[in-house]
Amino acid sequence: MKTPWYKKLHWQIIIGLVLGLIFGIIGAVAGWGQFMSDWVAPFGDIFINLLKLIAVPLILASLITGVASLSDLKKLSRIGGKTIGIYLGTTVVALIIGLVIVNVMKPGATVPAEMREQLQATYEGGANEGMELAGEASDRGPLQPIVDMVPDNFMDSASDNRNMLQVVFVAILMGIALLMIPKERADPLLNFFHSLNALVIKLVEMIMVTAPVGVFALMADTITSIAQDNVSQIVELLAALGYYCIAVVLGLMVHTLITYPTMLKLFTPFGFKQFFSGIAPAQLVAFSTSSSGATLPVTMESVEKNLGVSEEVSSFVLPLGATINMDGTGLYQAIAAVFIAQTLGIPLGLEAQITIVLTAVLASIGTAAVPSAGIIMLVIILESVGVPSTGIALILGVDRILDMCRTTTNVTGDATVACIVAASEGQIGDAPGLDSIDPTRSDILREALDEASATG
Ligand code: ASP
Repeated sequence: MKTPWYKKLHWQIIIGLVLGLIFGIIGAVAGWGQFMSDWVAPFGDIFINLLKLIAVPLILASLITGVASLSDLKKLSRIGGKTIGIYLGTTVVALIIGLVIVNVMKPGATVPAEMREQLQATYEGGANEGMELAGEASDRGPLQPIVDMVPDNFMDSASDNRNMLQVVFVAILMGIALLMIPKERADPLLNFFHSLNALVIKLVEMIMVTAPVGVFALMADTITSIAQDNVSQIVELLAALGYYCIAVVLGLMVHTLITYPTMLKLFTPFGFKQFFSGIAPAQLVAFSTSSSGATLPVTMESVEKNLGVSEEVSSFVLPLGATINMDGTGLYQAIAAVFIAQTLGIPLGLEAQITIVLTAVLASIGTAAVPSAGIIMLVIILESVGVPSTGIALILGVDRILDMCRTTTNVTGDATVACIVAASEGQIGDAPGLDSIDPTRSDILREALDEASATG
């Protein structure tokens, strides 16, 4: 029997999200800020904490077992090379889309001078904080990001969700080492990580039952805290920065709804509807938590269960993607950098725009998968093209909303690449949604299967 629509998780989350939005707006208008933070926000915090709680063990267990299950180093370098290559390629495409949109729409030309001064004065404090953090990052040598990836104490890295890249590094290293030691020595440890993996997956299922309530609370609280009980402030902000927000959202939509589906059509058997309904739970959680790290467990579950991507591929591609692949963040950073330059009347030539592409690719890799990380890394991009970094004061007020949107794109990008890598390796198996694969497209799957069996 078909499950009724309202019993499907993604519909329940959508309902939670919409109700949260409505409740948030009512709360903002009625001035319930205190009530929201006392009685509603904690449920959202609990939901995010639960997801974050399992992020480190999940990355560790899934990457170690993922790498070790690739059976040999040749297969690892093939899948690894493909994954990183596609991740970089899609990020560059995202940046180009962002730059084209911001240069054509010129949102910076519409901000009145008076509003610009007011915005700068209001958000100066926040901007200084961001600049200090980014300053620490940019004061050091060019190879520092690579040095930062290698921890000197693993317990330190595992104790802070911002150090995800270090955890990824250690997990891959351990997975490779496990491939190289004799099987009878490796097996006990591998079995342990396999059990840990199964445990984490069960935990995700349990946590996701609470997702509709968590998402409701997160949305309601986000709306009231943005409004800070002062609705006219949001309206003013949106009036001044509305065109900028439209440019960012348009760019994200083009990338999410055109670039990814085109790639999926070319390289996988998935159709538009099937892919998006499969990953809807992950997109909704990404939108409401603004953290691709916190969303990772849900992304993995959606891609495996709803789209049939093998665990071998998803457990390698997705944890890596959540930390290094941020197309939405890159696209947003490109638009924001040029927008700030336009508002401050600083012309940016082709050379500066190419510098933006290069720095934004690196910055999006280095951006932590947590809320607001993208705007901190934006300072580094601004400095690379000589735009004063205090300019982030202009856009801080609307950052949270855009963070929600760009995180959704980040997560969709990771899922797309997981599907492409899985299809190219002949590793798309059974999933409930797979019955509806367009039969004319099964050729892609068959070809990939033949190729994979030929190459082992
Ligand atoms: N919040 C984003 C993410 O977790 C990062 C960003 O701030 O752009 O994917």
